Amino acid sequence: MTLTVGVDVGGTKVLAGVVTPEGEVLATVRRPTPSQDVNDTARVIAEVVRELDEDYAIEAVGVGAAGWIDASRSVVLHAPNLAWRREPLRDRIQERVDLPVVVENDANAAAWAEYRFGAGRDQHHLLLITVGTGIGGGAVVNGEVYRGEFGMAAEFGHVRVVPDGHPCGCGASGCFEQYASGKALVRFAKERARDDRTGARTLLEMAGGDVDAIDGPMVTRAAQAGDTVSLASFSELGDWLGWGMADLVSAWDPRCIILGGGVAEAGDLLSIPARETYAKVTALRGRTEAAEVRMAALGNKAGLVGAADLARIR
Ligand SMILES: [Zn+2]
Repeated sequence: MTLTVGVDVGGTKVLAGVVTPEGEVLATVRRPTPSQDVNDTARVIAEVVRELDEDYAIEAVGVGAAGWIDASRSVVLHAPNLAWRREPLRDRIQERVDLPVVVENDANAAAWAEYRFGAGRDQHHLLLITVGTGIGGGAVVNGEVYRGEFGMAAEFGHVRVVPDGHPCGCGASGCFEQYASGKALVRFAKERARDDRTGARTLLEMAGGDVDAIDGPMVTRAAQAGDTVSLASFSELGDWLGWGMADLVSAWDPRCIILGGGVAEAGDLLSIPARETYAKVTALRGRTEAAEVRMAALGNKAGLVGAADLARIR
C-alpha cells in the first residue's frame, strides 16, 4: 500500500495527515501557521512530515497551500493571506525531508479530493468553492485538475464583483472574496449590529456587548439561536454566493458545483439562501439544465487528502 502525506497550509493552521490510496486518513498532526516568516513555515511543514514519517512508510508529500502556485507545482507565486512571495516551497521542503514533494493550490487539492472520494465522486466536471476566511476555487475538468496556462485557474475569490468595492488582500478591490467569505460575513454582521442592537441581542451578548469583538463562529452560533441580525448576515452572504455560483456556471458549465470550507459547515444557514438565489438567477438566464449544488463531504480534511492523492499521481 502506497502511503503519502498531505499537508494543508492555511492562514492559521498547518494540518497534515497520512493518506491511503483509498483516501482514508490514518493519522493527523496539527500546528499553528507561523505566517509572518517564510522559513519558519517551511520548517513547520518539514517537522510535521518527519513526525508522520516516523510511524508510517511515506513515499511522497503533497502540500496544499493557500496561494497561487506556478504551473510546475513548485513555487508559491503569491499568497494573499501568508508571507510568501515567489517562494520556492517545494525545494525548501524537499531539502529538509528527503522525499518527493509537490505543491498545489489548497482549493485545487480540495476539489480533487471531493472528485476522488467525496461529494463529486460520480462526476467528471465539477467546481469547488471553499468559503473560509477567504474564498478558494478549484476546478476538475474531464477528470483532471484544471490549472490553466500559468497555474492560476479557478481563482474565483479574486473576480471583481463590485467596482471600487472593498479592498482585497490580493492588491485589487471589489473581489468576490470580500463579499462571499467568512471575513465578509463578519463585516456584514458588524455593520448590521451597529444599526440594530435589538436584532443583534444574542450576537452582542456573545461578543460581550462589543461590536468589534464579533467573530465568525459567534455569527454562526447566534444565527443557530435565531438572532435576526446573524440570520440576515447569512442571507446576504448566501445571496452573493448564489450570484457567484450562477456566474461560474455560465462560464464553466460543470455538472456540479460543491460548496466547502469552514463557513459552509454552517449548513442550511448558508446553503438555503445560496441555493435560492442560484436557482432564481439560472432560471432568469433561461437555463433549463444547470449544475447541481452540493455540499462538500470531506470537511476540513479535503485539502490534505487531495494534496496527498495528487502527490501519488505526480
Ligand atoms: Zn482579491
